[in-house]
Amino acid sequence: MLKVENITKYYGDFCAVKNLSFEVKPGEIFGLLGVNGAGKTTTFRMIMGLLEPSEGQITLDGQAISYDITDQIGFLTEERSLLTKLTVKEQALFYGALKGMSNNDILKRLDELLDRFEISEYKEKKLKELSKGNQQKIQFIMAILNKPKLLILDEPFSGLDPLNVELFKQEIIRMSKEGSMIIFSSHRMEHVELFCKKIAIIVKGESVLEGYLADIKKEYRKKNILIKGDITKEALLQIKGVYDVVEKSDEFEVKIDSLSVRENVFKEVCKHQNITKFSVEEPSLNEIFVAKVGEVYEK
Ligand code: ATP
Repeated sequence: MLKVENITKYYGDFCAVKNLSFEVKPGEIFGLLGVNGAGKTTTFRMIMGLLEPSEGQITLDGQAISYDITDQIGFLTEERSLLTKLTVKEQALFYGALKGMSNNDILKRLDELLDRFEISEYKEKKLKELSKGNQQKIQFIMAILNKPKLLILDEPFSGLDPLNVELFKQEIIRMSKEGSMIIFSSHRMEHVELFCKKIAIIVKGESVLEGYLADIKKEYRKKNILIKGDITKEALLQIKGVYDVVEKSDEFEVKIDSLSVRENVFKEVCKHQNITKFSVEEPSLNEIFVAKVGEVYEK
């Protein structure tokens, strides 16, 4: 298990991460979310042993992060960090050796991954000859070559087309099923929702919300009601407890500030004709994220 306990990081006088704690168990995909400059990269660097926390500690299966165990951590950054003059095979042999793998194991695993990512024909090609998306696939393959215990994915889908997003997704899910711990960071909340059972939202280096996504959604007071039928936006906005109404292509999304308001909305809607849908929904992660981050900036 990865245990991040009360870590704080100062750059000079500036506090980039403040008293942050979370845990990731084998098989779990954890979403670390925050706006630009929230402290995600700083946190990742501390987990990888590239930066020393000013306070607090990080352990992987009970061992403090050190060069002895960083082999077991795979990392995919937004920035490309490939040796572009090498071929895919040479790059794999280089990275794999750094991770302590034998040449035989590297080549076997490389063939398996190139096949899954549908780029076997590029094995002998130099990286600089590959498209951006294919370079990203190679970078991902390098990060998971030795099946790391812990995999850190920072915006793994940026620049990928939808088909390749799907290939990446399948591999991430496979890694989690095989027992890897995965930390996932993305500005695309719909991706986070797809994968992550557990999340933390950090704002200005501090966690403002942490836990299981299902619990967070259940406990979040604001809900949405989807309504279809002969009713107007104005009529809906007049109901007590409705704080916004979004007009979608063929329905209204009525935003209520607590579940109890549902009764008021239902009574009003019943007065209208041809109502074909009345469905109370949990808010999206995107709505929760915007609200939580907004609260901190409004203070
Ligand atoms: P993004 O989503 O934009 O990548 P982030 O959440 O990864 O942002 P960090 O890169 O961890 O954020 O930065 C957190 C804060 O620490 C920012 O205010 C940044 O300016 C500051 N910071 C980062 N690195 C340094 C450094 N080496 N020296 C001083 N301040 C730094």
